[in-house]
Amino acid sequence: MISENLKSLLLEIPENVTLIAVTKTHPVETILEVYKYGIRNFGESRVQELISKQPLLPPDIRWNMIGHLQKNKVKYIAPFIHLIHSIDSESLLEVVQKEAVKNNRIISVLLQVYIAKEEEKFGFSPEEVYQFFKNYRHKKYNHINFKGLMGMATYTEDVNIIKSEFNLISDLFQNIKTDFSNSCPDFKELSIGMSSDYKYAIEYGSTMVRIGSLIFGERYSTK
Ligand SMILES: *Cc1c(COP(=O)(O)O)cnc(C)c1O
Repeated sequence: MISENLKSLLLEIPENVTLIAVTKTHPVETILEVYKYGIRNFGESRVQELISKQPLLPPDIRWNMIGHLQKNKVKYIAPFIHLIHSIDSESLLEVVQKEAVKNNRIISVLLQVYIAKEEEKFGFSPEEVYQFFKNYRHKKYNHINFKGLMGMATYTEDVNIIKSEFNLISDLFQNIKTDFSNSCPDFKELSIGMSSDYKYAIEYGSTMVRIGSLIFGERYSTK
């Protein structure tokens, strides 16, 4: 079942787009099933769950933190995290910088941009993100590699809303990439698209899709 889902999904994802298999709520046995098919990028949205699974799974897995990250929990993932998608404040960046120094690592991050018309979503406004790079504030964080942007569209049936939100973050991404390529050479990733909207995300230049339920089936808990 999972292998069938995965196979048909992989046919829909272009080669230059990375699949992040979102494994929240799923046990290590299930994760290993997908690992066997060659998937190496996995995403979790809660630190507690991530650090309980990580030691039980192969060390070549690239773990992606995709959910809201509390500052007091950065220390638990700093030693091994591959990419943090969900940087939603400068104060969080400061903590990530500190923990990266402690671990003698460069930690890769995406800045989460608020594009949805929903109340609950975290992130910077598009204008804040542009100003962040324009004012060279990223230069302050010498143990952080700024790799791109992440966003979540409104959860809606209305395709026009989804497309306009992806269009907004895609334009912002291109502008930052073009305008600040000298000071930010690795800014190349646009993490947009989940099970319900990844096809539109790919149309708008997604380089990373974060997909859970299309691979593993519906989750029983909501987070
Ligand atoms: C759960 C989650 C996903 C995956 O959601 P699905 O609809 O199951 O594909 C993607 N991104 C984030 C931030 C998530 O929390």
